[in-house]
Amino acid sequence: MDGRVLAQRVNLLRPWLQGRFGGEVVKIGLDAGLGCPHRAGGTGAGGCAFCPPHGSGRGQGGEPIAEQLARGLARLAGHRRPAKALAYFQAYTSTWAPVSHLAALYRQALAVDGVAGLVIATRPDCIDEAVWELLAGLQQRAPLWLELGLQSAHDRTLRAIGRGHDVACFDAAVSRARQAGIKVVAHVILGLPGEEPRHTEATADHLARLGVWGVKLHNLMILQGAPLARRHAAGEMVCWSRETYALAAARFLARLPRSTLVHRLAADPGPDRLLAPDWAADKDGVLAALAAAMVQHDLEQGSLCQISH
Ligand code: SF4
Repeated sequence: MDGRVLAQRVNLLRPWLQGRFGGEVVKIGLDAGLGCPHRAGGTGAGGCAFCPPHGSGRGQGGEPIAEQLARGLARLAGHRRPAKALAYFQAYTSTWAPVSHLAALYRQALAVDGVAGLVIATRPDCIDEAVWELLAGLQQRAPLWLELGLQSAHDRTLRAIGRGHDVACFDAAVSRARQAGIKVVAHVILGLPGEEPRHTEATADHLARLGVWGVKLHNLMILQGAPLARRHAAGEMVCWSRETYALAAARFLARLPRSTLVHRLAADPGPDRLLAPDWAADKDGVLAALAAAMVQHDLEQGSLCQISH
């Protein structure tokens, strides 16, 4: 029921993938062992306040990409038989390396049987001209999109969470990607410190104006080892309730153009990493609350959007 409501009211990624690839498509998360320039060794800034020590990695950094993909494909084959897989360079900052090294990694992934395209997650301030040219060339050979962290379209919030770049930096990366013909998915977190639902609505308006291809959103989570864990334990901040997130996410979606592809509506943090809010461990419950908020407030993606593309 909730899935049907969301499928009717939101432009979800899954049907788009099925149409584009002619069947089931699964992303296989990879850790190329590149690390993050925003931590010690890079800017030395210590990373973003919400980011735990392992970033979004799964601890397999350093293993050959082909082996990681083979293991992911074998695991999937045990459950279901996807038509295709996308190699998802997910962990940390997947463009932080010399361009020759990146080219080798991405080409290794595309050479694996069953891999139909690339998804590359990175920071907007970590793509130099040589990397833009590499990506532009690759996306002529295979489907590719870039996941870029924005988190909030408010510079004050970005400073508060130690992002190390501003909104203008993200905008410039989107503009450069458009020149190169590369699709961009914006990462956004709802409920960041100091933000209320009106701030996330303004972030949605910003993304609507920019015309990004996709968005990925989830609520703020306090994860083991992240800098925010200390602030949360000291009582310096509180997380939104599930109902607040659900309504804010519904209004966020309503302010986006209907054409924007929604890649994620809730996170899957894993119970051993999540400190708060406890409701975030129940992804189905979060999606049900979102569907209920959309129905109750008569919202659907695009219904409050001011932009026409
Ligand atoms: S969120 Fe990304 S940019 Fe920020 S510290 Fe984590 S890996 Fe680095």
